[in-house]
Amino acid sequence: MVDEVSALNTAVKMIQEGIRPPVVYAATGLAKQKLRQMYQEIHGKPAIRGRVPETAHRRLKSFMAVMDATLFFRIYKDLAGHKLFRVMDSNLMIDAYRLYKESVAVHRIDATTAWFLARDLGEKTIEIRRCRLCNNEYLYDKRSDFMQTCLLCRT
Ligand SMILES: [Zn+2]
Repeated sequence: MVDEVSALNTAVKMIQEGIRPPVVYAATGLAKQKLRQMYQEIHGKPAIRGRVPETAHRRLKSFMAVMDATLFFRIYKDLAGHKLFRVMDSNLMIDAYRLYKESVAVHRIDATTAWFLARDLGEKTIEIRRCRLCNNEYLYDKRSDFMQTCLLCRT
């Protein structure tokens, strides 16, 4: 029962941030019909149907977006610690996303992108590397044109 309550709580937070029902289902396992109803109640209109691009590297389409993703990652890591590389915590991820939104004037990544980023970090399809020149951590995904190098040094 506690699990169901916390799954519901997480689902409400995800939907409030505009994440569509299929992704909320993947995160919480709650019934799809119920999630579509929740979306309708929270937003006053049904969720757009159709496929959601399902990896962070497909959703991060510019250096600026990757820069914001890196900022989100730092905030998420402050909250979740190193366990984020083993398990995905959708609830903490939304808390981190809300802090990220408060810390930037214009947010360049949406909550869905942040969710896929958190998932991809947990599944290690995105790695964290450290720049040999400036010692900054950066997101690395060999499939992405924008996640190959340190964003500051571009090497
Ligand atoms: Zn660097």
